[in-house]
Amino acid sequence: MILLLFDIDKTLIDRSECHHRAFSHAFQEVFQVNTDIDIINYHGKTDPQITCEVLKKEGLDENLIKKKLDEFKEILSSYFILNVKDDHIMVLEGVRDLLTELESQGILLGLITGNLESIARAKLKQVDLDKYFKLGGFGSDNYHRPYLVSTALKRASRKYNFSPDNSPAFVIGDTPRDIKAGLENKTGTIGVSTGIYSPRELKDAGADFVLESLQYKKEFMGFIKSR
Ligand SMILES: [Mg+2]
Repeated sequence: MILLLFDIDKTLIDRSECHHRAFSHAFQEVFQVNTDIDIINYHGKTDPQITCEVLKKEGLDENLIKKKLDEFKEILSSYFILNVKDDHIMVLEGVRDLLTELESQGILLGLITGNLESIARAKLKQVDLDKYFKLGGFGSDNYHRPYLVSTALKRASRKYNFSPDNSPAFVIGDTPRDIKAGLENKTGTIGVSTGIYSPRELKDAGADFVLESLQYKKEFMGFIKSR
């Protein structure tokens, strides 16, 4: 059995304006701060981590942020779910084709994303990709990305008898944070340079294999089967 854990933003899809707006809405609603996630580099970070970093940069006290974090997550998620139907999410080139092929070969597919699970699922449902992913590690599971990988691996073992010692698992993502999270959990790692990071930066982060996009299906399949 092969297990593949895919990041979402800039790996499977381009970006979600609605997710972006949901943050601004929740910052205002819960903390009365008029701000935007663009004030930090949020790539590869979890939703709770993005929330804390933005608010700290706006001068808010860490204890106050932590106290209201659950309420923030609820507002973030409910705004997103209410408004995602109007979002124009672009699926990146080759993604649908690759996922269909992987599924037809019986490869176990999961997610590894900083998005809260409710947001991740709604986002992928909007573009009809949710059906491919049987499990995952999400921003609602933990603040730190490496824990998301260990959570996903545990779920794969529990639900699908996946054994990381005998079977290959791979993390696929567009940022050095995805690659490091995979390495910390001893999975294989595939970088895709469809985000803000170059193939060189992903290689330097330790990626076993780097592709310019997931449209290189033959190369992708060749790599995961070679392990
Ligand atoms: Mg990403």
